[in-house]
Amino acid sequence: MDSIQGIAAEVVACQLCALSRSRIHAVPGVGPDKASILFLGEAPGAREDEQGKPFVGPSGQLLEKMLLRIGLKRSEVFITNVVKCRPPANRDPLEEELLACRPYLDRQVALLQPTLVVTLGRHALHGIWPKAPTISRIHGQVVKGKRFTLLPVFHPAAALRSPATMKLLEGDFDAIAAYLAKA
Ligand code: URA
Ligand code: SF4
Repeated sequence: MDSIQGIAAEVVACQLCALSRSRIHAVPGVGPDKASILFLGEAPGAREDEQGKPFVGPSGQLLEKMLLRIGLKRSEVFITNVVKCRPPANRDPLEEELLACRPYLDRQVALLQPTLVVTLGRHALHGIWPKAPTISRIHGQVVKGKRFTLLPVFHPAAALRSPATMKLLEGDFDAIAAYLAKA
């Protein structure tokens, strides 16, 4: 039977795309096997590549702060990325890398059966929903799907670069809180 731990073991040994040759560590994701909320980023950065864990650098610190803002602990949500290995120099993931890595995310979603998926940034949004509207149009909005509800938010790294985006990200997290209060 498939399991979150089994997927993680496969990801750690995966060589399905060229990112396997430049990575230090693959980053399968972290969180309880029964998490009902999944936070989905783009791809590991330098710190994540060093540690094999998602969102442990500056973006991760901001994510943790935003979670606390709405009364969530990092340990109660599942956190992963659409691409599990770091692209060299943090370049955007290539289509072929997204495609190669996608089955791991699909299996994680099938096992967790999250009620809510929060995508962080445009690559996560378009990674899981290729035909999605732009992030600037759809951020902070609740999108009901067949398998789960999607709530796209800006990427913490973008908020760290721009005070205006930081305000938008705070609003997006308040939208998550409002959704959870109703659900
Ligand atoms: N940015 C991401 O998109 N994912 C991480 O895991 C870290 C930074
Ligand atoms: Fe495998 Fe995904 Fe890493 Fe590519 S990015 S090597 S598909 S785990």
